[in-house]
Amino acid sequence: MDPAPYRARLADEQAALIAESKAAEDDRAPVELDQQSVGRLSRMDALQVQAMAQETERRRQARIQAIAAALKRIEDGDYGFCVACDEEIAAKRLDLDPAVPTCIDCAG
Ligand SMILES: [Zn+2]
Repeated sequence: MDPAPYRARLADEQAALIAESKAAEDDRAPVELDQQSVGRLSRMDALQVQAMAQETERRRQARIQAIAAALKRIEDGDYGFCVACDEEIAAKRLDLDPAVPTCIDCAG
């Protein structure tokens, strides 16, 4: 199996996620506690926006990690084999998500 197309897709997705993470940096920044410029309600809005941005970032970082692990498996020549049982992962499954680490039987 030639992992090159998967490697390209993984690298593209990783680059996009890193760019997204950078672009959303401001939303995750500490909320200003300046009561003069921001009313109580809008401060709560700001905190909610921040909490959502932080949760999005947590998921984004987890995905970046999963992609990095898949790229490492390509480098090591282990790509396309289930990390749990070592069976081949179906191509259809890899086409859906090239970062998937397990075969369908081992997927939680
Ligand atoms: Zn398996």
